Amino acid sequence: MTRRVALATLGCKVNQYETQVLRERFKRANFKLVGFSEKADIYVINTCSVTKRADEKSIDLIRKAIQKNNGASVVVTGCLVEAEAEKIKDKFPQVKLVGNSDKLKIDRLFTPLDKLSYLTGFYSREKGSFIQDFYSHDRAFVKVEDGCNQFCTYCRIPFVRGSEIHSRAPKDILSEVQILINRGFKEIVLVGVNLALYGKDLIPPLNLTNLLESILTLQGNFRIRLSSLEPHLIPQGLIDLMLNSRICPHLHLPLQSGDDDMLKRMGRRYTTDEYLKLTENLREKIPYLAITTDVMVGFPGEESHHFLNTYNFIKEIGFSRLHIFRFSPRKETPAFSMTPQVEEGVKKERSKRLKELGGELSLKFISQFIGQRLPVLIEGKKDSKTQLLAGYTHNYIKVFLPGDEKLRGKIKQVRLVKAAPNYALGQL
Ligand code: SF4
Repeated sequence: MTRRVALATLGCKVNQYETQVLRERFKRANFKLVGFSEKADIYVINTCSVTKRADEKSIDLIRKAIQKNNGASVVVTGCLVEAEAEKIKDKFPQVKLVGNSDKLKIDRLFTPLDKLSYLTGFYSREKGSFIQDFYSHDRAFVKVEDGCNQFCTYCRIPFVRGSEIHSRAPKDILSEVQILINRGFKEIVLVGVNLALYGKDLIPPLNLTNLLESILTLQGNFRIRLSSLEPHLIPQGLIDLMLNSRICPHLHLPLQSGDDDMLKRMGRRYTTDEYLKLTENLREKIPYLAITTDVMVGFPGEESHHFLNTYNFIKEIGFSRLHIFRFSPRKETPAFSMTPQVEEGVKKERSKRLKELGGELSLKFISQFIGQRLPVLIEGKKDSKTQLLAGYTHNYIKVFLPGDEKLRGKIKQVRLVKAAPNYALGQL
């Protein structure tokens, strides 16, 4: 009988990519893929552990899978397994835990011929091109790099993902991107644990600029978006290359704090002055550029004046979108034992203020494009209430517009007619 598999993913785009690899492997091995809320024989939960909240959500999904079918095999993988294997085992002794480095071969636990080689470690880190599709997305994520060696003082990523950099060979990435383009994906998002470190481990070493240059030689109608890039690691030549119309004028540059003392305590390797100069230079050179960012509130020792500096700095830069995180102590990191820790109530208040500022800044950013025609990748189905389609411009403005559902997955020129915080209304 065909066995049914349900997969769930939490966290970053790298995790989403890895779940897609597994989805396709299970499919090729003739398993039936079903939704996570359905009854399945196998549940795979690809967890995240970036914050305490992510831990809780991961645990919740494990519980849900067991409740749905007590007799099912439940496999838990991802960053929470790396960080809290004992805790998961204590809570749920029946689940199977698989670390990040073995994640992509979970399917082999259930294919009898492969089980022996899997258990004896026959399969090492794999090479090749992995995916041919991207489930329920109109843009596809392609992972090009794994690992981070920066050790910011609050971050558990180097511990759970590894501090060694592993970059995929350009030929594997190119063949995967070409397959996705041929399949009709109009936007490819390059993702990595620390994307800007791409290629440093390859022999001979390469960088992200070299990779992009090769991708731009591929045939087809597509655009490329870069996910998060560490501001101090932007590779040489990237800024000039971003003038190519197939690269989205959008950079996500995590700021974390707008106060130099805080940045130092966080182990971030730039000053506010350097960050400001970088963004000025980028804006001068790249038309339409959107700069989005991550910012953290409540890092240990963050006092009102530090927060005020962050608030004012964010306003000065004028980001088009903010992702706000509340600091969450992770036990392997230096910040876990730094003092004084900031009260949850204060973190909430600061996060609320930044959210309001984020809304104002996005409105200001979007307003400058009202009346202009921008290329929008139409994504998703019509909203049932408004009957509008949604999509994103090349510079990451969310746009709602009237139109036929057949436009889904296409890039269309859309005139922006009205701005709101975090989105615009548009017309074909
Ligand atoms: S650069 Fe810093 S914040 Fe980003 S993954 Fe590496 S250690 Fe974490």
